[in-house]
Amino acid sequence: MSYRYLFGPVQSRRLGTSLGIDMVKSTICSLDCVYCECGKTSIRTLERKAWVEAEAIIDELTDCLQKLPAIDYVTFGGRGEPTLNSGLGRIVRFVKQSFPRYRCALLTNGTLFHLPEVREEVLPFDLVLPNLDAVSRGAFAAINRPDPGLDNEQIIEGLAAFREAYHGQIWLEIFIVPGINDTEAELALLREAAAKIRPDRIQLNSLDRPGACDWVNPASPEHLESLAHWFAPLPVEIITRAAKSASPWNQGSASPEAILSLLARRPSTIEEICGLTGLTVNRATAVIDKLIADRSVAAQTVGNRTFFRIA
Ligand code: SF4
Repeated sequence: MSYRYLFGPVQSRRLGTSLGIDMVKSTICSLDCVYCECGKTSIRTLERKAWVEAEAIIDELTDCLQKLPAIDYVTFGGRGEPTLNSGLGRIVRFVKQSFPRYRCALLTNGTLFHLPEVREEVLPFDLVLPNLDAVSRGAFAAINRPDPGLDNEQIIEGLAAFREAYHGQIWLEIFIVPGINDTEAELALLREAAAKIRPDRIQLNSLDRPGACDWVNPASPEHLESLAHWFAPLPVEIITRAAKSASPWNQGSASPEAILSLLARRPSTIEEICGLTGLTVNRATAVIDKLIADRSVAAQTVGNRTFFRIA
């Protein structure tokens, strides 16, 4: 069975070996973050509906998980915001009931957590990883370019309410965009918000591959380290690039379509493509060259590294 909504497993910097689920088709999100690896949001919305039918995802999960793959997490994320899928609760309950050996993680922007039904649907997850990059209206608009119906105070209250009811782990990610959310004023607001949300850890992250906007600069690991004290006594982790290792599950499955599917979710270097697919550098380069000639893929340099992304 080939999968439309499952991808990987991939080696994730934060989650180890992770089987991803695309919960929405394409880049459908409540935000349009300037650093988004998937590029510009195609539909910015707050509407919850069956963007992908729950049954279609459950069918793929059944086929995949019954083979008992060695993975650390089934991760609800991929392109767009997973809580926009109204089948979220049904799908995570299915995994927990039918395949209890697997842990479930949710990558979310947290923007719908003010809705009691969303908080309820998220309770079965073992790990929830929300983002909160800005608190002031100006920084929120500059970094996250939200749907006009969103209010950041409401988002923070929603995440704090979730913390009250939830006994699993919350890892709060703050994506640092130098010059916007690393000012003393914004960091003080973020500290206040984090104290309300009480995550189990804070993860400071920054650009390490092409984002949606070219003007976004990476923050160095040293700069991220220098910001950690703002969040004491909460534990702070600096997200660094982990070595990518080959996923045996993907060996031999690196058709041009498979590589396009990989690049649609995350721009990648040749080394990363090799690590994820098991291809040799020569073979991966040949496939990429052909995709570039077809104008399906383009190269982009960030720092001293060349990434390939969907053209
Ligand atoms: S980074 Fe996440 S929250 Fe931001 S636009 Fe992309 S998918 Fe949406």
